[in-house]
Amino acid sequence: MLIDGFGRVHRDLRVSLTDRCQLRCTYCMPAEGLEWSKDLLTAEEIIRVVRAAVSEGIEEVRLTGGEPLLRRDLLDIVSAIDVPALSLTTNGMGLARLAEDLKRAGLQRVNISVDTLRPERFLSLTRRGGLPAVLAGVEAAVAAGLQPVKVNTVLMRGVNDDEVLPLVAWARELGVELRFIEHMPLGPAGAWDRADLVTAEEVLEVLGSAYDVLGVDGRESSPAELWQLDGTGPHVGVIASVTRPFCGDCDRLRLTADGNVRSCLFARDEDDIKPLLRSGGSPQDLAAFLRDTVSRKGAGHGIGLPTFVQPTRTMSEIGG
Ligand code: SAM
Ligand code: SF4
Repeated sequence: MLIDGFGRVHRDLRVSLTDRCQLRCTYCMPAEGLEWSKDLLTAEEIIRVVRAAVSEGIEEVRLTGGEPLLRRDLLDIVSAIDVPALSLTTNGMGLARLAEDLKRAGLQRVNISVDTLRPERFLSLTRRGGLPAVLAGVEAAVAAGLQPVKVNTVLMRGVNDDEVLPLVAWARELGVELRFIEHMPLGPAGAWDRADLVTAEEVLEVLGSAYDVLGVDGRESSPAELWQLDGTGPHVGVIASVTRPFCGDCDRLRLTADGNVRSCLFARDEDDIKPLLRSGGSPQDLAAFLRDTVSRKGAGHGIGLPTFVQPTRTMSEIGG
């Protein structure tokens, strides 16, 4: 089992397939100057780590990045992973083309990032543009029968915080669960200011101005608190990583695209599993490596404490 010093059993592995992305979201990446990793894990290496993790009790694998749809061998990787829950987080560009193939290859669930429904705002937020492709991707995911389809939104004050209700109405019309994620200090240096945080509390206030909002029980280790609106689904989620941290129930472990194992998004250090993979490490060796990283996991991220230091790697490099 992957169990840390606080008794938390790890069941969820996030696997970053690439640090590359065709967008440059302001909260995730700098406008320029970020070098792509030159030494990504191969599909075969990724699968070996995933299988070792599964042998240690991992039940859910989420493929992410960077942008995982940019990985050319994505379908091979998806077909080779055998877990009760296989999901993928994507910016949605290219999903219209790939959704059906992904479903056929064994992908079950998908999370798509949509921060705005306004094309000009999407352009300034992503520094690239392409909102119609993203929206087509969401529709294609629903049509392909990926289940559930969830949409992630990061709200930023003065940027898109006036779109809570339009985004909720759009998601409910499509039948997908929308989750508002609090902006975390994980992007380029200087992009995060606690004073500008749009908090879960504020989101709930806005929801309450338009709907009867009722809490949904059964959260377990999920980062999202779910809310039912006007007595009907789909629910709306709030991921309050900053103002209501859920580290005490965290069951997540991460593998970066360049082969580093991280026990927390905010970890100050990570363990490079490549040398072991490339020197013929056995499944048992890989499993022992994962157990060791998990055993050293800290209690929590400590955002807000005087001792907190933002990780040097951006969210696109770590894998969200
Ligand atoms: N490119 C894909 C996407 O955008 O969905 C997958 C990788 S992205 C790093 C995963 C998730 O992290 C996205 O939902 C994105 O909005 C979120 N994210 C990135 N930087 C963040 C930050 N500083 N705070 C909160 N969420 C962030
Ligand atoms: Fe790319 Fe996703 Fe980061 Fe946006 S959030 S820059 S789409 S990796």
